[in-house]
Amino acid sequence: MKFTFITLFPQLVSPYFEDSILKRAIKNEKIEIDFKNPRDYTKNKHNKVDKAQAGGGAGLLMNPQPLCDLLDSMKSDDPDIHVVFPLPTAKPFRQIDAKRLAKKKHIVFVNGRYEGIDERVIEQYANEVFSIGDYVLTGGELASMVMSDAIARNIKGVLGNEDSLSEESFEDGVLEAPSFTKPNIFRGSAIPSEFLKGNHAIIYALKKELSGLKTNYFRPDLFLRNIKGK
Ligand code: SAM
Repeated sequence: MKFTFITLFPQLVSPYFEDSILKRAIKNEKIEIDFKNPRDYTKNKHNKVDKAQAGGGAGLLMNPQPLCDLLDSMKSDDPDIHVVFPLPTAKPFRQIDAKRLAKKKHIVFVNGRYEGIDERVIEQYANEVFSIGDYVLTGGELASMVMSDAIARNIKGVLGNEDSLSEESFEDGVLEAPSFTKPNIFRGSAIPSEFLKGNHAIIYALKKELSGLKTNYFRPDLFLRNIKGK
């Protein structure tokens, strides 16, 4: 799987892939990352990448010309690129999307800056649009990093222990049960005793119950949809 980040600030994104699991995934050729800078595709004298908004309005937009030329050239090299625009106005990015997108060959994230991107560029090029939450970031880079991380860990061979994927939060639309490590008593607080007795059926049932309680407490929306509604 290849991730290309279209960004005016590649140096914001690249360090994230220089350590830990994602660094190993690149070394093992499970993922590849690439950067394209719209500034390299400008046709004006000062390589300007911003433009005033039509009809006025506070702030500038990204100039469509460099973005479109760049995307056209990428599409002519590889017609199968899957183009994703991170946008605060889009539907929320979810685990189910991360799993689905992990099967793509080449995802291209088009990262907005300033007050965003001319809507026509999004309409013409987006295969998908996603928001990572109900707040406004200064640019799409953080959102693309969040999504590429969540996608990458669902690619076969990226995680050391793939069993952990099937036991994670959101897997069945619910949150993971609380987890514990040794010692049995830490700062006066004890692990539920069933976790220490080795009966896997009992531990499984307890985890399911705790997962339900946690989901109800922190995410009543998921609880209603995926536990109570079933
Ligand atoms: N004027 C836009 C609005 O109010 O909807 C916000 C533009 S924001 C300052 C600049 C860029 O950051 C966006 O084009 C998008 O790429 C990215 N961005 C900001 N918040 C985001 C979010 N919650 N999820 C995904 N991308 C986001």
